[in-house]
Amino acid sequence: MSRETTLDKIVSLAKRRGFIYPGSEIYGGLSGTWDYGPLGVALKNNVKNLWWRMFVLEREDMYGVDATILMHPRVWEASGHVAGFSDPLVECAKCKRRYRADDGSIQLQPGEGKEFKWICPQCKWGNVHSEVRQFNMMFRTYIGATEDASAVTYLRPETAGGIFSNFKNIVDSFHPKLPFGVAQIGKAFRNEIAPRDFLFRVREMEQMEVEYFVRPEKWEESFEMLRRESLRFIGQLGIPRELVHETEVSEKERAHYSKRTVDFEFDFPFGRKELFGLAYRTDFDLSAHSEASGVELKVIDEDSKESVTPHVIEPSFGVDRLVLALLTSVYAEDELGGEKRTYLKFNSATAPIKAAVFPLLKNKPELVAKAREVYANLKQQVFHIQFDDNGNIGKRYRRQDEIGTPMCITIDFETLENDTVTVRDRDTSQQKRVAIPALPHIIIS
Ligand code: ATP
Repeated sequence: MSRETTLDKIVSLAKRRGFIYPGSEIYGGLSGTWDYGPLGVALKNNVKNLWWRMFVLEREDMYGVDATILMHPRVWEASGHVAGFSDPLVECAKCKRRYRADDGSIQLQPGEGKEFKWICPQCKWGNVHSEVRQFNMMFRTYIGATEDASAVTYLRPETAGGIFSNFKNIVDSFHPKLPFGVAQIGKAFRNEIAPRDFLFRVREMEQMEVEYFVRPEKWEESFEMLRRESLRFIGQLGIPRELVHETEVSEKERAHYSKRTVDFEFDFPFGRKELFGLAYRTDFDLSAHSEASGVELKVIDEDSKESVTPHVIEPSFGVDRLVLALLTSVYAEDELGGEKRTYLKFNSATAPIKAAVFPLLKNKPELVAKAREVYANLKQQVFHIQFDDNGNIGKRYRRQDEIGTPMCITIDFETLENDTVTVRDRDTSQQKRVAIPALPHIIIS
């Protein structure tokens, strides 16, 4: 991350250039929601596609699923979410603003006896409470036309539930041998008390999760494999390794069933915070769902020929947090030709637009026609190509730099003679001449 990076600069560039907009903006916005614009959706798809490729397509031991967001409420009873997926909440007695009591946004001071005191950052009222309420973060809704307790269900708070509930289906259809994993990408919803920091803490997000099923005695090697693969994925995205820090979660802080959890933290502009997690969850989930549903969730161990409940290792990524970490990592400013420039150093895998094609001059029909032809050909092969003939060449370069397009292709008078174009590199601003047939190759490589 360059020293110039601030969250404000990223939020403003993301909105101005069509990456990310505030949700429901024309109605004043909806807290904790952000919409992805044309470049944002391309960027997010690149992140998800890379993950899917590395964790599913390139491997023999992974199976993909796409389960529903609405699930039977007993899924969330069995997983412990109905009883325990909550954050501590306090409400200001004067202005009614609510805060999480454990994230540093307010300071709790001991009062008399069991009481505690805190000052509301909003209205400065001195509050005294005797207890901190637990606030369940699942969004409740009703299934069907009756709105009574029997119709209550939840928007899933994580994608893992849809993986565990399909475990038996995958085993029955594919007869996988241990170890194997089931992967899912999809929306998850959390009614966060205090959504904040742009995409970092939102109420509607996307997750990419793997539940990797292992023999209990072999968990450590799979944990290490998934740790390595997760970091390799981060590297492939173009997030610098030195900005990612591994923190062993202590026994006291881990979920009671977890034997090991590592939080991978990232140096966001607002501090070092969790980017993704890796947890050894023992047989907690499969045993809990098996007991609650009455359905056996086991697999035959090829070695012992016995039916066993596998243990689980779970790498869990938030797509939106990754997009924010990536934007933070690639944001750069420098000086070019005596002018300040802002640019995004996406690699070719994550760049939303892979190349832009320009005619040198807008008012020369032969240049425009040739540029259109080159553009149309490339778009057939690479898809994410932009055509631009607006303003002078310098302005077009700046626009492409700001959205992170790795290369700009200009059609000039020489092109009409020898079928070569200039290709300008975003980071160095160096130009070279390239033969038109070679373009798809250099764009993709
Ligand atoms: P945090 O402590 O930051 O709330 P968590 O420990 O509750 O996160 P998990 O339940 O482990 O998070 O979720 C897995 C991943 O999903 C996180 O590492 C993060 O990338 C993402 N995630 C969780 N909550 C949010 C959220 N509200 N907004 C965006 N991403 C989130």
